[in-house]
Amino acid sequence: MRKIIVQKFGGTSVADTEKIKNVAKTVIREKENGNDVVVVVSAMGHTTDYLVKMAHDLNPNPSSREMDMLLSTGEGVSIALLAIALQAAGYKAVSFNAMQIGIMTENVHSKARIIDIKTEKLRKNLNEGKIIVVAGFQGVTEDGEITTLGRGGSDTSAVALAAALNAERCDIYTDVEGVYTTDPRVVPNASRLEQISYEEMLELAHAGANVLHPRSVETAKQFNVPLRVRSSFKLDNSGTLILGVDNMEIYKPVAGVAADLSQARIVVCDVPDKPGSAALIFSKLANENISVDMIIQSYARKVSNTNDIAFTIDKSDLTKTLATLESLKSELNCGEIKVDDNIAKVSIVGAGMIDRPGIASTMFETLAENNINIRMISTSEIKISCLVDKDKAQQAVKALHKVFELESEEVAVVKGDLPDV
Ligand code: ADP
Ligand code: ASP
Ligand code: MG
Repeated sequence: MRKIIVQKFGGTSVADTEKIKNVAKTVIREKENGNDVVVVVSAMGHTTDYLVKMAHDLNPNPSSREMDMLLSTGEGVSIALLAIALQAAGYKAVSFNAMQIGIMTENVHSKARIIDIKTEKLRKNLNEGKIIVVAGFQGVTEDGEITTLGRGGSDTSAVALAAALNAERCDIYTDVEGVYTTDPRVVPNASRLEQISYEEMLELAHAGANVLHPRSVETAKQFNVPLRVRSSFKLDNSGTLILGVDNMEIYKPVAGVAADLSQARIVVCDVPDKPGSAALIFSKLANENISVDMIIQSYARKVSNTNDIAFTIDKSDLTKTLATLESLKSELNCGEIKVDDNIAKVSIVGAGMIDRPGIASTMFETLAENNINIRMISTSEIKISCLVDKDKAQQAVKALHKVFELESEEVAVVKGDLPDV
């Protein structure tokens, strides 16, 4: 039986027609290797940002249904153009959007999860010898509503398709040569990782390393999809392989450093110190589909018998979060609600830090030496995150990258810089 390879090309890789021709060559090379190929593409260049900007010019708080209708159009352009380019090169190719295939998601706008992918149409077209080009980032609900998977979600479309089709491999082609020890745009002498475990990559992606959408890594881990990140501009490079931790040897305690600038911190002040207060806040936020990341509850103040509850959320959920908290204020009987979006979460990640003492203290000392104040701390078995002032984030990443000896002799190649819209 022929093997199926899923390839995904991000926005910079399909930013103009020359680049789309280049993508077609990479696709054709895989087809000529004797494989069946399913290609997932993102919207061209900065298209999605541009669509978001237009919507906000018209309405500061557009409905998430209409945003999904709008944003899903970006991918529609690139799939048709790539199929046209493949046909021009003499290959049979067909493009499909999520609705045509049946990429089924839950009924949530702007960050839906894929729950099922129908494979009949895909298999039929592959059997007819066609290269299939699929729109990333979008899905459809049982009721026929268009959804999107969250910014950067085309990676997840690709991995989910690879899982559904039992593909041999999922290759994510992007504008850097793989996964690096930190963002090579911030630290040019970051090192490319030959391999990284699903677990570490998942933590890095959640910590802000947007080279992969977190849910794509989660799906790859769940279905054991071999995942590779490679450069779409330099094909002789093997990139980074993401695989199960059992197959890896760990040399360093820290595999990578990441910063997330997309969070906001909320402090709910003077919450009565009694059972049920935290449950009330976080269950209401969960009902609104708002994900909460770091949480800190202060010691109860003896006199007033209240405490403060601070937590972080994604900035895109800020309006919804504040509205939800406002609606709770009288039931919760709390004080002021404070917001700070001038913050960044800086994280170190590594399976090698398990049972190795001193990693957290090295992180805190390094931040202190750089005069960077820590506002919140959270940890998992393989990650330590500190919330710092936003303008200190780059300095923190550089210092941590250095102290944990992650630098390389070479300077990373970052391709495809695009002008801002
Ligand atoms: P695409 O449009 O191909 O999906 P993205 O912009 O979503 O590309 O992701 C690639 C970018 O991720 C790189 O250009 C790089 O700046 C950024 N990045 C952040 N952290 C890392 C990391 N640890 N390794 C590689 N790239 C990273
Ligand atoms: N086009 C979408 C975005 O810009 C999805 C993606 O690129 O993965 O977020
Ligand atoms: Mg991306």
